[in-house]
Amino acid sequence: MTATIVSPRLMRIGGGSVDQIAEVLGLFGLSRPLVVTDPWMVSSGTVSRLLDPLVRADIVAAVFSETVPDPTDTVVEAGVAAFRAGNYDCLIGFGGGSPMDTAKAMGILAAAEPGAKMRAFKVPAQADRAAVPVICIPTTAGTGSEATRFTVITDTETEEKMLIAGLGALPLAAIVDYELTYSVPPRTTADTGIDSLTHALEAYVSKRANPHADSLALSAMRLIGRHLRIAFRQPNNAAAREAMMLGAMQAGLAFSNSSVALVHGMSRPIGAHFHVPHGLSNAMLLPAVTEYGLNDALPRYAEAARAIGVATKEDADQVAGSKLLEELRELNQELGVPTPADYGIGAAKWEGLLPLMAQQALASGSPANNPRVPDAAEIVALYRRVYA
Ligand code: NAD
Repeated sequence: MTATIVSPRLMRIGGGSVDQIAEVLGLFGLSRPLVVTDPWMVSSGTVSRLLDPLVRADIVAAVFSETVPDPTDTVVEAGVAAFRAGNYDCLIGFGGGSPMDTAKAMGILAAAEPGAKMRAFKVPAQADRAAVPVICIPTTAGTGSEATRFTVITDTETEEKMLIAGLGALPLAAIVDYELTYSVPPRTTADTGIDSLTHALEAYVSKRANPHADSLALSAMRLIGRHLRIAFRQPNNAAAREAMMLGAMQAGLAFSNSSVALVHGMSRPIGAHFHVPHGLSNAMLLPAVTEYGLNDALPRYAEAARAIGVATKEDADQVAGSKLLEELRELNQELGVPTPADYGIGAAKWEGLLPLMAQQALASGSPANNPRVPDAAEIVALYRRVYA
């Protein structure tokens, strides 16, 4: 088997690295950025962490701050209109996964004919072209989007969260500065942290796993397994924030070069139909979906348990696998992850949408990478199982 490995051309990692944005742009001869961010980044003043160093370097940056959580095709179209109205040579995605994904999607859509729609690029299409390079600077830890060849955009006509994949979505460069995450509230720290853990675990057990992605996934699980609870309880713990940011990035690189699997396939429809934050819908599914596939990739799940730090070398695989399930359930409890019912999703609406959600999960292609590949009926059964 051959593996194709992709990653940004440059990643600058460390506390305070956002101050070096002008130098990073300069390395690539870029000087006219459009910053893509969200309204909170502007209202909280956080965007100045990026704009101030640009001003000091005499770089004039415009800001598009209309991105929304779980970015939509209409927001991407508005972003492309703003991009075309100026003379920009790059896009800077600054924020959580939502602004970064919006910037990536803008690059892809802006390279297409005027009037093109985002849905033309959803998998299995390949989105390999972007109008200009994208630089990503994450402020959550996180989606890993700064290092992946994916963007996830909701089709507002069908309420489908579309997976869009290709070199057009791969950032040219990433600046990964954990100091930007001190202000992330505990709920978002938990949700985004479980998202990273899910990336690493799914990349590692995926049918498309390969040795390079494995090493990144294992490293990410070691970091996240030891630091997620600390970051959740102690927002100002520098070592925990730094470990989570690195772990999130490595998990992004891992799944970008392997794949995600059933959790993500089933999670996107929950996000699209019920507006549950992405990491939270992953967390709702993770224990049950892991249990569903456990015996089909037991040695891998066992190794994951050892990397996370809940099993030892001395534990037999079956024991380590059980400890992994226990840990995922405990983690959800400690981090206050609700069931879909507790989140307030009505039983009738949930039940009525299950066939469509199962079909959308399968269409994304992600379930096919799972160690145990479900059909639509099994996906519906899993959705029912996690509901209450
Ligand atoms: P998000 O970007 O939607 O942000 C969540 C909230 O946190 C927002 O209110 C935001 O303003 C706030 N926030 C962000 N940074 C903050 C900070 N430093 N301090 C305080 N508040 C802050 O959430 P996310 O979980 O980072 O991203 C989710 C999106 O990413 C989803 O759309 C998901 O589908 C996508 N995603 C993409 C990839 C990929 O590879 N492209 C991978 C996983 C998830």
